[in-house]
Amino acid sequence: MNAPAEIPTLPLNDGRSIPQLGFGTWQVEQPDAARVVGEALEAGYRHVDTAQMYGNERGVGEAIAKSGLDRNAIFLTSKLSNDNHEPDDARRSFDQSLKDLQTDYVDLFLIHWPLPTRYGGDFVSTWKVLEEFQRDGRAKSIGVSNFRPQDLDRLTAECDVRPAVNQIEAHPYFTNDAVRIDNRKRGLLIEAWSPIARGGELLEDATMKRVAEAVDRTPAQVVLRWHVQRGDVIFPKSSHAERMRENLRLFDFVLSDEQMAALTALDRGEPGRVGPNPETFAG
Ligand code: NDP
Repeated sequence: MNAPAEIPTLPLNDGRSIPQLGFGTWQVEQPDAARVVGEALEAGYRHVDTAQMYGNERGVGEAIAKSGLDRNAIFLTSKLSNDNHEPDDARRSFDQSLKDLQTDYVDLFLIHWPLPTRYGGDFVSTWKVLEEFQRDGRAKSIGVSNFRPQDLDRLTAECDVRPAVNQIEAHPYFTNDAVRIDNRKRGLLIEAWSPIARGGELLEDATMKRVAEAVDRTPAQVVLRWHVQRGDVIFPKSSHAERMRENLRLFDFVLSDEQMAALTALDRGEPGRVGPNPETFAG
């Protein structure tokens, strides 16, 4: 087992903290999950992002159990499935998530999508169930994903606990800065999903390549470093051990203000999204 990489932690608004870099597991299929997540832990990751909808919580739990690491050495996040927003479904499925993950708590539990067109637009009663999970200690921190500013206004007006994070799509082709800036003013930490825009075009972008050459790093490392310097949490996914290690090596180089600005200027607005728009996504 490698020594954990030097990964900074960031403070959450509930007094806890989170490693800024973790490992994403969307599209890591259940039969591969124990091996892939095991390799990520071996490489030095100590923060894993999964979800009920990824269908791989059993494999993630197996990897953690087999790693020999103390449970409290790992920051573990899961998320409520879009099909489980009814309070009783949320409670039942959360019990199952903990069983599958072979743990009695998660570090962070999120509502995956706000689903404004389902459940009569009610995510408030769902959020109150997450507040229960935090009160009983089974979710150390609670947060949301893909929430729009108006959704956060409702939680502020109708609920007791402020989300610790909002996990949203963000990368140089879709900086999502209006939501990021709004959320930061509210004291939420941003987790940027699809941080390298799922690979592909962004990593081939001429600007990305120019900056990568200038700092003698790969395009993936450059884009991940851009997120780090923006102060957001990231968890790139890779099923390849060498890329897992590559994506960890972000803390021994710095992008200049000019390089940061050049990457930010790649923003394409809405057409730059690689995932669904929370406005219309119904899961
Ligand atoms: P990423 O931006 O992390 O990109 C993953 C893709 O990039 C994979 O195809 C991977 O290929 C490839 N890749 C990874 N590292 C490198 C590298 N160094 N060089 C070249 N290619 C690379 O996309 P994700 O959508 O997976 O986002 C990350 C995580 O965010 C998810 O896994 C999930 O945990 C979370 N997420 C949350 C969402 C939400 O709604 N809350 C939505 C989407 C994601 P390979 O595996 O073959 O190496």
